[in-house]
Amino acid sequence: MSEQDFVSWLRSTVSVADDDIVPLGDDAAVLNWARRDNLVVTSDLLAEGTHFCLAEHGPTRVARKALAVNLSDLAAMGARPVAAVVSLLLPRQGAQLLAEELLRDMALFAQAYSMRIVGGDTNSWSGGLVINVTAFGALTPAGPLRRDGARLGDILLVTGELGGSRLGKHLDFEPRVNEALKLIQHYRLSAGMDISDGLLLDLARLTSASGCGAVLEADAIPISAAASAWGVQSGSGQSALDHALSDGEDFELLLAAPPDEADRLLRDQPLEIPITKIGVCVAEPGLWMDHASHRTPVSPRGFDHLG
Ligand SMILES: [Mg+2]
Repeated sequence: MSEQDFVSWLRSTVSVADDDIVPLGDDAAVLNWARRDNLVVTSDLLAEGTHFCLAEHGPTRVARKALAVNLSDLAAMGARPVAAVVSLLLPRQGAQLLAEELLRDMALFAQAYSMRIVGGDTNSWSGGLVINVTAFGALTPAGPLRRDGARLGDILLVTGELGGSRLGKHLDFEPRVNEALKLIQHYRLSAGMDISDGLLLDLARLTSASGCGAVLEADAIPISAAASAWGVQSGSGQSALDHALSDGEDFELLLAAPPDEADRLLRDQPLEIPITKIGVCVAEPGLWMDHASHRTPVSPRGFDHLG
């Protein structure tokens, strides 16, 4: 298949929205942003061997993850997904087939989030598969959900359950797009982000951006069944709580809200997944954990991308 043919195929595979001024197939796409609020842009790079194993996980799950991590970041900003560009660096052998499979799967998954693929690039080389997705979203009138807005006394909340994502959730997680949009529309949140590198590490980022510290309640952390299972299976010697605190790739939302607003949110439980209070923001920088009878400082450990 020539590049021309490939672009034609791609055009018929990915959905073309009416409001694209120039859709996929020209030198660049032109998107109509006139009736949208501010543009939110995010980009993620996934590499075989580091983020996935193609032979083990298969193209469908890998394609889904490449898009989902970007959707999670749009959600974390409180943005509505609009479009994405996808660049693939493919292993030379079977490059064409793999590209088609990945793009077809991504187009399908994108559709479920009302997002379309509007361009990108494909190349092959002697190494493993590398996928870069850049996603574009639009803010809502609620504005961006930033990580620097948490204030002293704010309640810290998380969606869903944490830990053990290596057992499958790191590939199959549902990005919290609809959840984030619902929450920012109905509740006054001070700060928020997605948990990609582990609760402690991401919480440290949120609190340091906000100029505060945090005290977590050990008993309140929502631990997934996978966190316990992974503790046993991996032979890490760590407790399920440790895994929930630092495994990463949970792709849940970490939020801060003023106490009265957090109370209302916790009472309402407006999502199909639980929202749990895990702690409180304090004046002194740093992280602590409250156990039944004592408080201990905790270090922000998690997944270090350059480690
Ligand atoms: Mg993020």
